[in-house]
Amino acid sequence: MKYVTLNNGVKIPQLGYGVYQVEPTEAGRCVNDALGAGYRMVDTAQAYHNEEGVGAAVKKSGIARSEIFLVSKIWIGNYGYERAKASIDESLRQLQTEYIDLMLLHQPFCDYYGAYRALEEAYREGKLRAIGVSNFQPNHFIDLASNVEIVPAVNQVETHVFCQQIRSKEYMDEFGTHTMSWGPLAEGRNGLFVNPVLKEIGKVHGKSVAQVALRYLTQRDVIIIPKSVHRNRMEENFNIYDFELTPDEMERIKSLDLAKSAFFDHNDPETMK
Ligand code: NAD
Repeated sequence: MKYVTLNNGVKIPQLGYGVYQVEPTEAGRCVNDALGAGYRMVDTAQAYHNEEGVGAAVKKSGIARSEIFLVSKIWIGNYGYERAKASIDESLRQLQTEYIDLMLLHQPFCDYYGAYRALEEAYREGKLRAIGVSNFQPNHFIDLASNVEIVPAVNQVETHVFCQQIRSKEYMDEFGTHTMSWGPLAEGRNGLFVNPVLKEIGKVHGKSVAQVALRYLTQRDVIIIPKSVHRNRMEENFNIYDFELTPDEMERIKSLDLAKSAFFDHNDPETMK
């Protein structure tokens, strides 16, 4: 496993396991399988309603808490300083832990500055080891990062071969903020799993399309959290460090970039409501 050092010195696995759309009743089994496959980072959120299952699986695993990196996110309904503060304590309770390794604001909305102040306070109190944001496009990101005391350690944004965030990542790099990819496989959209370029490159290395798509992101220094509820796919997505894409292959995959979302536009007022 490769580790990345965040802007406050905290180390995070570059590859983790995401549990969006994992049923609360399934979360325990899935996280247990993911830990068994070797994952040591789990990405959840208040809005996924499965923090409790994640926390229970981590506790039951017998793996030292210090070896597992837990990420969660404050949902927009909990924004504003007071509500965000209370929701951090509720996440700690649901996750059955004394600290969360990385807590993010799920997306910019209404009083996100108030919510971010609650993150900063909980960070200083030791309840959170690192703090950051998610779905902040360059305009929101630069505004926030320029005006807060603790610069976000991470911005978790849609990032995959069809939406590579090349320009956005440059802005984030300037602030020392790591890009974390959500939807690293684009949930299979745009025909990702049958893409001829990825297939051909995969053949050369004896690797699947998913493995090539994920390896590409890690070679661009992006943190990734692919999701699957199937143990065999969890293992497949985890086994990406035993091969290396050549500069030529990296260029070919770079050319797949459409530089737009395969899901929704966070600059669209309809998305932000
Ligand atoms: P993903 O790109 O990881 O795709 C997951 C889907 O791809 C699976 O449901 C499965 O259908 C398929 N898949 C996975 N591995 C495969 C394989 N090896 N072969 C074939 N098919 C495979 O999409 P995601 O779940 O949306 O994103 C990953 C994680 O990112 C989420 O679980 C969540 O933790 C996070 N996320 C965050 C936000 C946000 O707003 N911050 C939004 C979406 C997701």
